[in-house]
Amino acid sequence: MLFDLILGRELARWRRVGRRPVLWWRDDDARAPTPQLERLIALSIRHRRPLTVAAIPDGDLPALAVLTATAPAVALAVHGFRHRNRAPLGDPSGEVIDGDDVDDVAAQVAAASARFAAAGAATPLFVPPWNNIHPTLLAALPAGGVEVLSGFDGPRRRETSGLRRLDAHLDVMRWGEAPRFRGRTRFLGRLRRQLAERRRHGRWSEPIGLLTHHLDHDPGAWRFLDQFLAQPAFDWRDWRGALEA
Ligand SMILES: [Zn+2]
Repeated sequence: MLFDLILGRELARWRRVGRRPVLWWRDDDARAPTPQLERLIALSIRHRRPLTVAAIPDGDLPALAVLTATAPAVALAVHGFRHRNRAPLGDPSGEVIDGDDVDDVAAQVAAASARFAAAGAATPLFVPPWNNIHPTLLAALPAGGVEVLSGFDGPRRRETSGLRRLDAHLDVMRWGEAPRFRGRTRFLGRLRRQLAERRRHGRWSEPIGLLTHHLDHDPGAWRFLDQFLAQPAFDWRDWRGALEA
């Protein structure tokens, strides 16, 4: 099958030296329990793969906290403030922009974290919307009580401005006018490159992050996700376990 065709040789190289690639799973954009989120959590439970759900603080956090507490390995992370794009036309989407005041942004970070704590789901993990790590946001996060930052395929350094860093690398979706499944070949090919890079540099335990967006999945994305999570080749960790890998 395609999985073995694309990844077989690379995974055999890992096995030969007694290594299993460390994977972790981040899903973005939850605001409230939905059938899609329940479907995602069901996948996490069925395949026993830990899942981190990045939730937007203006949503129904108490309901999300209750729902995720029903699953053994599902955690919440803070996904920005309101997930509103404030970037000027033509710039990458982002919630924090040039001219924003660091103290104001730190106050927003603290308020967002406080909402999670009030819902019984305190977390030190922050996921900026659109993975946009604006320098002002970066400067504000520690003051806002954040300890771990998750973007998309950023610098290999595991620390940024005093924050631990745990990125996602494999986006199951392709983003255009209409989001759709990236495709098996593209997804698995990217995973192979991520694995080969870690192997060549001896970075065996550097986590690779799977990224999903439950509200946007088409049938192809759901089907693939189910198959991919079933693969036994990987050492799946929750975000804390991935940081410690
Ligand atoms: Zn988002």
